[in-house]
Amino acid sequence: MPPFDVPEGDPFGPHNLPYGVFSRTGSSERTVGVRLGDHVLDAGAAAAALGSPYVSLLARPSLNPLLAAGRTAWSDVRRALTAWVTVPSHREAIAPLLHPLSEVTLHLPFEVADYVDFYASENHARNVGRIFRPDAPDSLTPNWKHLPIGYHGRSGTVVVSGTEVVRPSGQRKAPTESAPSFGPSVRLDIEAEVGFVVGTPTDMGTSVPLPAFRDHVFGLCLLNDWSARDIQAWEYVPLGPFLGKSFATSVSAWITPLDALKDAQVAPPQRTHPLLPYLDDASEEPAGYDLRISVAINGHVVSEPPFSTMYWTAAQQLTHMTANGASLRTGDLYGSGTVSGPAENERGSLLELTWNGETPLELPAGKRTFLEDGDEVTLTAWAPGPNGTRTGLGEVTGRITPAS
Ligand code: MN
Repeated sequence: MPPFDVPEGDPFGPHNLPYGVFSRTGSSERTVGVRLGDHVLDAGAAAAALGSPYVSLLARPSLNPLLAAGRTAWSDVRRALTAWVTVPSHREAIAPLLHPLSEVTLHLPFEVADYVDFYASENHARNVGRIFRPDAPDSLTPNWKHLPIGYHGRSGTVVVSGTEVVRPSGQRKAPTESAPSFGPSVRLDIEAEVGFVVGTPTDMGTSVPLPAFRDHVFGLCLLNDWSARDIQAWEYVPLGPFLGKSFATSVSAWITPLDALKDAQVAPPQRTHPLLPYLDDASEEPAGYDLRISVAINGHVVSEPPFSTMYWTAAQQLTHMTANGASLRTGDLYGSGTVSGPAENERGSLLELTWNGETPLELPAGKRTFLEDGDEVTLTAWAPGPNGTRTGLGEVTGRITPAS
């Protein structure tokens, strides 16, 4: 008999236990929940019912107190939660605290501090290089193999899965136009990514070496870095992305703890260039993750990007991001960069899937180069779990509404 009636093989079984924040229908009170199958456990109420000291971390309206508590607490709380949902003697206390997902509202699970987005897929970077710099001698920029390229984004517009995305307006100028114009983006795109959530902060003037990655990063989630390509193309020279990206970034309602992904750790691709010592991970534990992402538009799968192909790891990104002494704050979020595999059906953006609009996708709803009003984009993913199981990541979905 599977614990607490979760079907055998459910990707959200007791081996997973991602964290979120929910309120029950008809209530405005938010509290930390843990997903089990198609239910959410009121984790704070469970801690109180069982006399656990973790009530102070779990009976809270956001994950931030748990994030700030650090690696030892993260593992201890997870061990306790696993017992609560699997040990038969807890069943009587726990069962009434499991609420169907259909009867709760899920909220942004943590207060986002700083937000950074990277550019770590070699396939994506080469595709973008070929599209925008067809005459360059190399599709990669000279720095790409030496450091994880990134930019600082806008944390205040990170939204939870399910939030509608208003088509952004902005200034753009196509190469064929003589002057810029202002209006709703006509090249609205997605970027399928993985977001990493920082728990333990650091002091300014210090940096995080590669082996300390797990001491600072609590977990990960799917992330959609909505991108207005026409606005981006005109504004990005010479300082990088700005208004073409900052209007919205969507994240899953569920944060999967790194402790749930031990069976998904894989070595990153072979390094083709020697790395400076602070980024050299040859002697570190494998820091890549085997996450199988799926991208659907209006329910139709258009791509399956494999996260295991990412050249730069989240550990290297964290180390590089703090190499100058920049501090970390609890709730910092950083995106992996668009995940694109080597195959045509593994590309994580419409820019690449339609080759800058030259080859439209044929969808049941009609041809698409970029997103139309009413389109709904959904990212899902799973990772190999213990004993042949799958560990599911919370989906991230968003629908485009017309420009205001
Ligand atoms: Mn991005």
